Amino acid sequence: MGDVLTPDATGWMAAFAALVDEQAADLTELDRLVGDGDHGTNLQRGLQAVTALDATGLDAADYLRRAGTTLLATVGGASGPLYGSLLLRAAPLAAGHGDDAAGVAAFWRTGLDAVRGLGRAGTGDKTMVDALLPAVEAMEATTGTAADAYAVALPAARAGRDATGPMVARKGRAAWLGDRSAGVLDPGACSAVLLLEAAATTLVPAR
Ligand code: ADP
Ligand code: MG
Repeated sequence: MGDVLTPDATGWMAAFAALVDEQAADLTELDRLVGDGDHGTNLQRGLQAVTALDATGLDAADYLRRAGTTLLATVGGASGPLYGSLLLRAAPLAAGHGDDAAGVAAFWRTGLDAVRGLGRAGTGDKTMVDALLPAVEAMEATTGTAADAYAVALPAARAGRDATGPMVARKGRAAWLGDRSAGVLDPGACSAVLLLEAAATTLVPAR
């Protein structure tokens, strides 16, 4: 994979890819129920391309920019541009990410803003925003270390993901189903939790 990056951005993408591989069938099944049944395979295809990138000579910001561009180009669907933009926009904040909870919060707030700028989803629309937004708010309400930020963000993201179950989708393909989208977790909210879980195990400096 080339140079070791600080923070471990290549490790983050590898961990995300591993979690998506593990759960690809579930993500795709959820998307079959409320979308077009490709969310798991979309992400797998994109993350295979990302983990194949040569990171030699890149710093974390450059690598994440390249990872974002790769997701944009290869994932397809709504989630490719959304996750691609998250990485592209958050990339410049990667260097300060591990410093403390504020660094983590700034990184994810910027990524979330990119997702919202592109997709225009708000709370309750049954999208990845329902997992990401409570996570960012929890980070921002925390003082302490980077690890402290993830300690509050992960439960918040999981609760946000779980809350998408009864929601009626108002964005993306699932919105075409109207009321029939209720009763199924949003696949993008599920993958957003995986993105955060992967970050918590890789982007936080050892203490
Ligand atoms: P597609 O719906 O185009 O097939 P994917 O299946 O890869 O794309 O991703 C679907 C996920 O994308 C949804 O579960 C949802 O979380 C997310 N999504 C769709 N539209 C939006 C939007 N406008 N804003 C935020 N997230 C969205
Ligand atoms: Mg889909």
